[in-house]
Amino acid sequence: MNWLRNFMAGRYGPDHLTLALLVVSFILSFVLFWVPVPFLGLLSYIPLGFALFRMLSRNILKRGEENIKFLKVWNTICGWFRKTKQHHADRKIYHFTACPSCKQKIRLPKGRGKLRVTCPKCGHQFERKT
Ligand SMILES: [Zn+2]
Repeated sequence: MNWLRNFMAGRYGPDHLTLALLVVSFILSFVLFWVPVPFLGLLSYIPLGFALFRMLSRNILKRGEENIKFLKVWNTICGWFRKTKQHHADRKIYHFTACPSCKQKIRLPKGRGKLRVTCPKCGHQFERKT
């Protein structure tokens, strides 16, 4: 394994983005296997090639930046899914409404009849059926 260590010296190596590219390549090769179009399966080598290129790259700074960008996008996607899931679960117990004055979104408990609401943002008072 000494030659490998020498070979990888000064190179970027694997990171989150590389791992994601490998997963994409794996899924693509699996999906494209079932598509009866010649050479379409070669598409799965594109993320694989990019993953290899990044691991062997000597431009460590640039690759690190790419990984940070990827993680930002990844966290945004995960955060959106988490929020949507939470919102969906909340719908059963909460009634969502918006302040008629400032459009601030407000969460009210469900099934309490008519409620007098004070907007936490602008202090506007209004009534809502829940
Ligand atoms: Zn308001």
